[in-house]
Amino acid sequence: MDMEGGKRALREQWEPIVNALGYKFTPDEELADFCLEQEVVLYRKHGIPFCPCQGLTGERDHDMHIVCPCIPWHREHFDKMRRCWCGLFVHQDVTDPDTLPQIPVGEVD
Ligand code: SF4
Repeated sequence: MDMEGGKRALREQWEPIVNALGYKFTPDEELADFCLEQEVVLYRKHGIPFCPCQGLTGERDHDMHIVCPCIPWHREHFDKMRRCWCGLFVHQDVTDPDTLPQIPVGEVD
């Protein structure tokens, strides 16, 4: 899988999935491109597009919850921030992703 083709394929595959969840790709094209590039690297290495901003533990339960897009697993947290951890996906009405807060897991009630 070449890099540009891989990024395009992931975009096409994920767009309808995240749309159905009320999310979209971040309008920050530089960030989106960087995250997708990292996803392609992880996909090449593991055969699975793991999250580029979360560490793998080798424990299946944990690691399968950080396969992109991991929105369904962490929905409550992401809905509070209106973005996912990496910022690759944001709520559909977000136009300025730089203003969105990062809320640590322990502070989500
Ligand atoms: S935090 Fe975002 S980029 Fe990372 S796996 Fe989840 S949805 Fe994908």
